[in-house]
Amino acid sequence: MSTYDYDLFVIGAGSGGVRCARISASMGARVAVAEERYMGGTCVNVGCVPKKLYVYGSHMREDIELAPSFGWSVNDAQFDWQVLRENKVKEINRLNGIYRNLLSNAGCDVMESRATVSGPNSVVVAGKTITAKHILIATGGWPFKPDIPGIEHSITSNEFFDLPSLPDRALVVGGGYIAIELACILHNLGVETTLSYRRDLFLRGFDQDIRQHLRDELVKKGLNILFNHDVTSINKRGEQTFEVTDSSAHTTTYNLILYATGRKPKVDGLGLENTKVVVNGDGAIQVNEHYQTNQDSIYAVGDVTDRVQLTPVALAEGMYLANYLFGSGSPPVHYDAIPTAVFTQPPIGTVGLSEQDARAQGYDVKIFRSAFAPMKYSFKTEKERSLMKLVVDAKSDRVLGAHMVGPDAGEIIQGIGIAVGMGATKAQFDQTIGIHPTSAEEFVTMRTPVETISD
Ligand code: FAD
Ligand code: NDP
Repeated sequence: MSTYDYDLFVIGAGSGGVRCARISASMGARVAVAEERYMGGTCVNVGCVPKKLYVYGSHMREDIELAPSFGWSVNDAQFDWQVLRENKVKEINRLNGIYRNLLSNAGCDVMESRATVSGPNSVVVAGKTITAKHILIATGGWPFKPDIPGIEHSITSNEFFDLPSLPDRALVVGGGYIAIELACILHNLGVETTLSYRRDLFLRGFDQDIRQHLRDELVKKGLNILFNHDVTSINKRGEQTFEVTDSSAHTTTYNLILYATGRKPKVDGLGLENTKVVVNGDGAIQVNEHYQTNQDSIYAVGDVTDRVQLTPVALAEGMYLANYLFGSGSPPVHYDAIPTAVFTQPPIGTVGLSEQDARAQGYDVKIFRSAFAPMKYSFKTEKERSLMKLVVDAKSDRVLGAHMVGPDAGEIIQGIGIAVGMGATKAQFDQTIGIHPTSAEEFVTMRTPVETISD
């Protein structure tokens, strides 16, 4: 009989923590979970879920604009932010309840309170010390903002989803997933939106053609983008009026400034000094292939390890750990060829190597590329264009990467991701019969390699 209060104590009921806790409990482990803020973590409360709901809400505008060309009269369409926000709140409350029930139905003790680590096998929750054979740190990340004068006048994605009202003019700073997704939401909801990014093209690390294509489509839609732009200070000039100065000493006035300049692991005040857990310069907890820290009894998964900040990755890591600790083990998490989508409007879907990374890794590549206007826009004069691209190893014929900008890119690339993960060849893509008429069929009908236009 164990002398510990629990077999596993999980700190953080987000994607990774909940998955590990409930699977462990279902295998007979005695599990407790502490959550200080919101059941379901970032993804459910201030991440994937509210973001995707707002993407749907904001994209309605384009569908309404398209409707008359298909014969529909849409008179006097109006948007009401309070309705969208309140419906989002209701849905998230429902999901919070589902997460709470998932844990308690699996037999976990749920403590809606902050936990700190007080030793290799102990945590403190609400002043009480609790012991556990294993401790899992799944505390996620937190938005990072650079230290410039007036930065306190800006918000982050955390506050964005519950804004009391929409601003007239917004500045979004950053060039990663969050900045571009939220800029598209604001723009499509009718806010005059400017995106500021410090280098020459956003989404660093994505395929160059994809980045350029998305830039061109967003500019066509009227999003104001400032590349090579650095905000140096923010001054408050009124209740919702902020003057922003850049490195060229230009000043511009906005009613909302949103910083989306990355997220850092959430380890402050966690009590790691009471253990041998090692963190890197950004606070990311260092783990081995079993998610074990330098302290044998303590594990960490998800954003707090700052490997790949995606919900399905945190889920996979949590699942692996439950099987490792209490089951019969499972194959390692595959970090190669992780499919991902950026829910911009139009969205990006991507899996595998970019053309640039493939070349940098020494592959002799063949590139297949198709740019076209999806059928949905047949009746429009200014048509949104999609781009699809395959990066193929000329030697083995293996598809190294598949990339897309266009409607449903995430849905399409999820399936392509299976093929790329299995090492499918271009010949196998070509043998696959297309589904007509779809955009996705382009992935199995691109026959002629193109000269690369990428850098
Ligand atoms: P989290 O989900 O952050 O959970 C950590 C939990 O720990 C939190 O609930 C926190 O309150 C709790 N906690 C922290 N410290 C303590 C403590 N001391 N005691 C008790 N509880 C504590 N990923 C995707 O795959 N697709 C998307 O579309 C997507 N969109 C996103 C949009 C936004 C705006 C953001 C911010 C993120 C998005 N992500 C998306 C990323 C995704 O949300 C994260 O990768 C994922 O939530 C990480 O899960 P996690 O379990 O590591 O941490
Ligand atoms: P990212 O790390 O993706 O992007 C951060 C951006 O901020 C980069 O463009 C970076 O520029 C810029 N930046 C960093 N520091 C500064 C600074 N001091 N001044 C100005 N700009 C700066 O972070 P996000 O916050 O966008 O998102 C965090 C993570 O959450 C993502 O990486 C992703 O894993 C996950 N996520 C996933 C989503 C999805 O799956 N659809 C959606 C949203 C988030 P530079 O390029 O020069 O480094």
